[in-house]
This record gives sequence, C-alpha cells and structure tokens, in this order.
Amino acid sequence: MRNCRLFLILISLFWISSLAFADCAKLISIEMKKDRGFDYLDIYTSGQAFGKGLLLENKLYIDFPDTVIAADFSLAKRPSKRINRIETVMKDATTTRLIIHLKKTIDYDLVNVFGRGKTVIEISDRLDNIFAYQAAWEKSSLSKKATPLKPRKFTAIRRGALLGKTIIIDPGHGGDDPGALAANGPPEKQLTLQTAQLVCQLLHEAGAEVYITRDEDRRSNLHDVVDFANKSRADIFISLHYNSTYNSGTSGTETYYYNSHSRRFAEIMHEALVRGLQRKDRGLHRMPFYVIKNTDMPAVLLEPVYLTNCSEQDLAKSQKFQRRLAEAIVKGVEKYF
Ligand SMILES: [Zn+2]
Repeated sequence: MRNCRLFLILISLFWISSLAFADCAKLISIEMKKDRGFDYLDIYTSGQAFGKGLLLENKLYIDFPDTVIAADFSLAKRPSKRINRIETVMKDATTTRLIIHLKKTIDYDLVNVFGRGKTVIEISDRLDNIFAYQAAWEKSSLSKKATPLKPRKFTAIRRGALLGKTIIIDPGHGGDDPGALAANGPPEKQLTLQTAQLVCQLLHEAGAEVYITRDEDRRSNLHDVVDFANKSRADIFISLHYNSTYNSGTSGTETYYYNSHSRRFAEIMHEALVRGLQRKDRGLHRMPFYVIKNTDMPAVLLEPVYLTNCSEQDLAKSQKFQRRLAEAIVKGVEKYF
C-alpha cells in the first residue's frame, strides 16, 4: 500500500514536471560574429523565445523564460575585444540565462526576431563619457554656498508593505542649479522634483516613513544631503536625476551605485527601471558620485531617461511616464525589502 502511494506521488511529480517543460523552447546554438566594428551574438532557439537583457557592470545577462538548454547545444566562439567568455546556466527550472562576461564598458541592443526562433544581440563600445559630466557638476556644486537644507517628512501611516522602513528621496539640482537644460522643455531640476514628489507619495501610501531632501525649487548642498541622510538612519537613499549628453541620439536607463553594501539594492532598482520603463538598458555602473559614496545606507543614483533625446524628453514631461517611473521605483524598493 505504502509503495503504491509512493509510486502515485512519483508519477504525478513526473507528470507535473513534464507539463512545465512541455511548452519550453530549447536553446540550440549561439554564433559570435563581427561586422562593421560591432560584435554580434546570433542566438537560435527551437520555437519562439523572448530574451530579456540586463547590463550589470561588466556582465550582460540575457534571460530566456520558458527555455531550456538543448542537449546538443553549441557555441561558435570568435576572438573579441569586448567579450571575454559566455556562460549558459539555468537561472531556474524553466529560465535559461546567458552570462556574457565583458572586457570593457559596452552598449548593446537586443532584437527578438519574431517567428524565427532567433535573438540577435549587437554589442558596441560605449562612446560618450557622461560620467565626466556628473563629476564636473558635483565639483562645482560642492564648492558653492547653498541655502540650508529644508527636507520634508511624510509621516508613516500604520499599514503597508513598507511599514517600519525609512527612505530618503533626493531630487537632483534646484535653485540656481537647473541641471540638464534641453530645448523646449523644463529644466532637469523641475522634473526631478515632480517625479520625487510622486515617488514619496507612493512610498508613503505603502507605509514607509519618507523624507524628500527638498520640496521646492532650492539648491541643496551635497554635504548637507549626506549629513541629513546619515543622521536620519534611513534604510535606503535614492537620488533622482535625468540624464544628458552631447549626442541627441543617446537614450536609455542608467543606474549608479558605489559602495559594496549598495550593490544588491542597485541591481534590483536597475532591473525594476529597465523592465518598468522599457527603454534601452544603458547599464548599472559603479561611480564615486558624492551622495552615493558618502551615505552610510544602501544608496543609488537613478538616471531613467535622457533629456537631450527628443522622444525621451517628451516622455519625461508626460505625467503618464512620470507615474510609470514612480511605480517602477516603488516596485524595486518593495522587492528589495
Ligand atoms: Zn542631474
């Protein structure tokens, strides 16, 4: 009787697992190619698979949900100045993950060729050095005298997923520092404030105690921001900016962190923004920006889109997009905790 029951359990487990794999595509092969200075990965699957990319510093992850690795999977390698090696692993029972180990900072595009069982990844060098812009702004900002910090507190309500958490939201720029100035649009300082207020409202509704470092058009001294964050013993710190560069064709979402204790938070936030906004993934990067380097708690600096790109500037101005961004930030925060 006992053996019989065990047999039935085993049969049903086998049946459930075969159901789980029945609809899965198979990863058949990867071919590395080079063309006009780009590296390409042609990824072939049996049936339609939808790869999703995530660039986290020197690793590019491509996840294929509902896909398993074929027994005769093959990888045709070529020497590349950008790609070190490619790993294939099962992220979970039905998600195949490619881990592309990179030699340098890159840009990438991913196209799932519909109906062809093929995904193409184009990898190029990252050309612009926007890191230098942020560093130059910080240097001038730190040297200027600013008005005293005037944070606003959103006192916690007594329910919600974020009950007991203290969060600091820091809208970049303000006052005589407009931040990025793009043609036909509000300055960065105005957009960061609008988005930050919306984020605070949603975090507050989710039960967190929230502080915004400025709630009006005034410039905060970065020393004061860090001081305030550290004294408040907040659980996390989020600095909000909008990106800019000299190249109007550049677009996409970037996230920065510096301290190792911020890395897990930064990964989660970057993924939440890339998935939530559906813009180009410009990667998670480690940079010594002042507010994320000197705060004691896990801290990130978010650059959701570029104001110097016409279509992303239009997005940033729209209430619908700001709402989507705020919701993505809150989703990331909830996942982190
Ligand atoms: Zn900025």
